[in-house]
Amino acid sequence: MTIRKSPTQKFYAILLVECEMLQYKCDGYGKQLIIVNPHKTSQICSHCGYDNGKHALDIRDWICPECSIHHDRDINAAKNILNLGLEQALVNSCGLCSRLKCRE
Ligand SMILES: [Zn+2]
Repeated sequence: MTIRKSPTQKFYAILLVECEMLQYKCDGYGKQLIIVNPHKTSQICSHCGYDNGKHALDIRDWICPECSIHHDRDINAAKNILNLGLEQALVNSCGLCSRLKCRE
């Protein structure tokens, strides 16, 4: 009997394997793996935090209406992901992680 996986189950199975590989690499180099939720990272201004809403995928750059900073979509998302990771690293370093379950 074969049990078929849904596309979501397949996605999470692949994600789990990728995370295990990344964790292995980080362990080998003495680094910490921090996984962040990428939700809205391309929509939120990395400079002021303004949420500019969804952009079509062909919109590659935008200007924040709040602080007038020009953003490349991918670079802005990378800055937001870095900031989320640094926030989690700070929380982890003070021992709050296990109580707050911030890595979910
Ligand atoms: Zn802004």
